[in-house]
Amino acid sequence: MVSTVIPVPSFDLVIFGATGDLARRKILPSLYRRLAVQQMPSDARVIGAARSKMSRSEFRKMISDALTEFVEPKLLNPATVETFLGCIDYVMVDATGTNGWSSLAKKLEERPEVTRAFYLSVAPSLFEQIAAKLSESGIATPESRIVIEKPLGHDLASAMKLNASLARSFDEGQIYRIDHYLGKETVQNLMAIRFANALFEPLWNSGFVEHVQITVAESVGVEGRGSYYDHSGAMRDMVQNHMMQLLCLTAMEPPSRFDPDAVRDEKLKVIRALDPLKIGDTVRGQYRARGNEGSYHDHVGNPQSRTESYVAIRAHISNWRWSGTPFYLRTGKKLGARMSEIAVVFKHPPHTIFPQVDDLKGNALIIRLQPDEGITMRVTIKEPGPGGMRLVEVPLDMTFADALGEDGGTMPEAYERLIMDVIRGDQTLFMRGDEVEAAWAWTDPVIDAWAESGSKPLPYDPGSGGPVDAYKLTSLDGHLWREITT
Ligand code: NAP
Repeated sequence: MVSTVIPVPSFDLVIFGATGDLARRKILPSLYRRLAVQQMPSDARVIGAARSKMSRSEFRKMISDALTEFVEPKLLNPATVETFLGCIDYVMVDATGTNGWSSLAKKLEERPEVTRAFYLSVAPSLFEQIAAKLSESGIATPESRIVIEKPLGHDLASAMKLNASLARSFDEGQIYRIDHYLGKETVQNLMAIRFANALFEPLWNSGFVEHVQITVAESVGVEGRGSYYDHSGAMRDMVQNHMMQLLCLTAMEPPSRFDPDAVRDEKLKVIRALDPLKIGDTVRGQYRARGNEGSYHDHVGNPQSRTESYVAIRAHISNWRWSGTPFYLRTGKKLGARMSEIAVVFKHPPHTIFPQVDDLKGNALIIRLQPDEGITMRVTIKEPGPGGMRLVEVPLDMTFADALGEDGGTMPEAYERLIMDVIRGDQTLFMRGDEVEAAWAWTDPVIDAWAESGSKPLPYDPGSGGPVDAYKLTSLDGHLWREITT
């Protein structure tokens, strides 16, 4: 089976911050891949905007180098690269000043009929100014779209301020808040598995689900992002956005339709049904030094830092579906492996006729986001052979790459899907302003409580599964974290 590519209409996409890391590493390579499969039309324009003085051809050279670095060599066809570079333009614009805005306006006026989108791949401190300037100058029309990405505020107050400021220039229906986890194929497949099959939904509740574990583990430390990270920490950087989105998609009620507001209403209800987070249901950690590798303190250059590089949470959702089923979340840096997954662990059968069943872990649906996107179901079967009725657990692969053919087996980069959705005008996989605020309202009190408590995050060894106390969070309920492994 070959996947169907539906071309999007022509567009002008302005990337503010087009010379930066995110644009070069993700946004532009994603657009290239969409052009290569003929989803992006060859008359679309991608207009880079930044302060650097650069000619169009210098900018194209920069993009050509970025494609060589970040696109898989097998996709780099010289004719396609040439066509893509033909779509690229550049305008020098200073977001904080007056330079360049009229040139940008003039360029966009050449094609008033096409979809206009503005991707703000710049520091969040520039979001409000750019949005206001786009609106005041008339560059943004009522049909234009604006795209922003985390961090969307630092806490509830700043998120509300950002939302209010954007709302002065753009309607909610024009604002695309990217969470790239939602663009991942397996995350969308979670919805397909739940809502397009009759098999799972009857079991998707506290009657059958023992617990849910959501893990986003990184093997790297804070790397070059030390100063940003030290003001943020794992809770703000990962839990408030990506992990809560995954929690919502796992726990939400079936929406009445697969449309943006129906889906986002259901996600919002999950956040609002979360019990207030208690400090005792969280464990914070900070990685230690190991051999020549520095500690978290060394990496952020702040020996007094109390910012967490690891957090584990036991959350409860107070509604009819989930009351009594714990949702465990954990994320951290310098852990044993780079691994992100959602594990829905089902209850044991109520009665066993097999004596060995105590050794088995039972059924689990594992939605793996990285490194190898895919879905497996852990099932118990009889071990083959004549040795009697011995049971083993085996993974049932539900990725179906074989069934979908070679084409179905290649996973598009999340940004590819999301940018095409912006052009199509589909907000289903983007966060609404009220969702972002509700998520901050849940995480803020515990962040404040940590600060007020004066306690320090617990140290953990690089390469481990986090602080030992994190294991107590689950073991109190008689559960075990899954191993962090690739
Ligand atoms: P970056 O490498 O520092 O790039 C920033 C870009 O903004 C540059 O192109 C810079 O170009 C431009 N810029 C700075 N000041 C400007 C101004 N006054 N007017 C116009 N352009 C200006 O940052 P990044 O890593 O690409 O990140 C961009 C945004 O995405 C940030 O909000 C970040 O938090 C978010 N993000 C990044 C990643 C990632 O993987 N990198 C992941 C998730 C989210 P000039 O200096 O030429 O103006």
